[in-house]
Formats: sequence, C-alpha cells, structure tokens
Amino acid sequence: MSCPHSPQCPDVNSPEREAARVVASHAEQGWSLLCNGVVLFDDTGELLPDGNTVAPHRPTDRSASTRSDADLSAHSV
Ligand SMILES: [Zn+2]
Repeated sequence: MSCPHSPQCPDVNSPEREAARVVASHAEQGWSLLCNGVVLFDDTGELLPDGNTVAPHRPTDRSASTRSDADLSAHSV
C-alpha cells in the first residue's frame, strides 16, 4: 500500500499504524480509513487490510477504570 504523504505514514505492520493519516472518515458510522489501509473504529478497535482485527485498546480505558475504582473507594469512605 503506497502512501502519498511525506513523511510516510507508519506501515500497517508498524506498532504506530494508528498514526497514519485518515483518508476517509465515517464518524457517523464510528470508523475511519487510514492511508495504510487500517480501518480504525471509534473504540480504538482496528480492522487490518489482511482481515485481522485488533481489539479496542484505548489507553484511557485503564485510567478510566482506575478512576472509577478510586471513586468507589471515595464513596465507601
Ligand atoms: Zn499516508
């Protein structure tokens, strides 16, 4: 998959593939097509060009659950 951008976007095999430019945004459907062929979903899940999928891994999920844990303990105190 050739990338027209300069510098080139991360390859689909790169751990930074989500940093590729969005070439088609379908926000109303909750996904975007990146120029390296990755379909990136709003929940940070991914559909790769080879058909593989990547589970959502939004970094904020962990801190969000940590925060709610903190809230729970704050309420119980
Ligand atoms: Zn690109």
